Amino acid sequence: MLEITRLPNKGRAYVATTDIPQDTLLCISEPLATTVSQEWTPETCMWCFHFSYPKKQKVKAVTEDQCKQWNISMRYFKDFLFCSDRCKQLCINSFDHHWNTLLGIYYRIELEFLHENNSLTIKKDSVPSIDKSIDIKDDHALSTWLNHAWDCITKDVDLYKELDEVDKPMLRLIATCLVKQLQDSAQFESLFDIQDNELTYFRQLYQNHQLPIVQDNKEAYLSILPQSLVDVMALYCTFIRACRYKNNRIPTLPHVHHTIFRSIYFRERANSFGLWENGEQEEITDDLELLGYGIYPSAVYFNHSCDPNVLKKRDGRTFKFISKRYIRKGEEACISYGQVDDTVENRRSRLWEHYHFICQCSRCLKEQ
Ligand SMILES: [Zn+2]
Ligand SMILES: [Zn+2]
Repeated sequence: MLEITRLPNKGRAYVATTDIPQDTLLCISEPLATTVSQEWTPETCMWCFHFSYPKKQKVKAVTEDQCKQWNISMRYFKDFLFCSDRCKQLCINSFDHHWNTLLGIYYRIELEFLHENNSLTIKKDSVPSIDKSIDIKDDHALSTWLNHAWDCITKDVDLYKELDEVDKPMLRLIATCLVKQLQDSAQFESLFDIQDNELTYFRQLYQNHQLPIVQDNKEAYLSILPQSLVDVMALYCTFIRACRYKNNRIPTLPHVHHTIFRSIYFRERANSFGLWENGEQEEITDDLELLGYGIYPSAVYFNHSCDPNVLKKRDGRTFKFISKRYIRKGEEACISYGQVDDTVENRRSRLWEHYHFICQCSRCLKEQ
């Protein structure tokens, strides 16, 4: 009923290949990877996102035997819980024999978060004079420049950042994607259907048109780069330190190059779906909690409209997309990214803030 088409000024989109009546199930989307928000880990099932607040979920992801085998305390796994044995089994099955690798990485991330941060001090005034530069509008030149910057800055894996509530679930999500790659590389490849936003993101942060070339000069790179990008590099270093932590009993991943880390991180940033409490509810309201988020490759072609013709419903960890009204053949199928019960100015500024685009939907054009 839907096909992926390239639309002018919008990129790829789902378009109806036939007339579609109201209340038709258009698409069921399964996640490549999901993660529970740090705030709600004890009350949220890691598999189906059942929310049991104020009670904690009951089924532990790790058994005492496993912890004995690994010679570690069970308290490191206190955040990893399921609502039922069934959910636990479904989750284990989805990773096959790589389930232990995933648990191993989760443990390593926990451990790295407990370590003290020795922040690298950046001397902003120590930049040498630079006479060569590149045009940041040039995609190829910019990505080459960024590759060099990442090579140079992350080489010694000594970058630290003040880790916050969002960092741990983000690292878990990236770990989940990487373990998926070991277990089902075809499914992992679906990640690359999603648009990579790294260059767009960089251009938004770095407002100058010219970017100086600094050969292998870490301090110079660090002084040029916007802080939020340095933070992503520090997050990568955190991940690598966690994976490298020496303990032969606890499984780990083969070396993860920064290019693969970035390709997941920047796809997640603008394309993940929030898993909200009460998924059946049509509108996301202020009193609902964000239980986690996930990467849904087949769902990213639903663009936004402030007058959407498709409804997104969460059913456990899957999303169902249902026509909200009659959709004519050739019409684009759109959902709304969050609340649209607001003025055109407020809608546009919220979308710009979160998704970096100025909404040009028919409703916005009419109301502007
Ligand atoms: Zn569950
Ligand atoms: Zn709009």
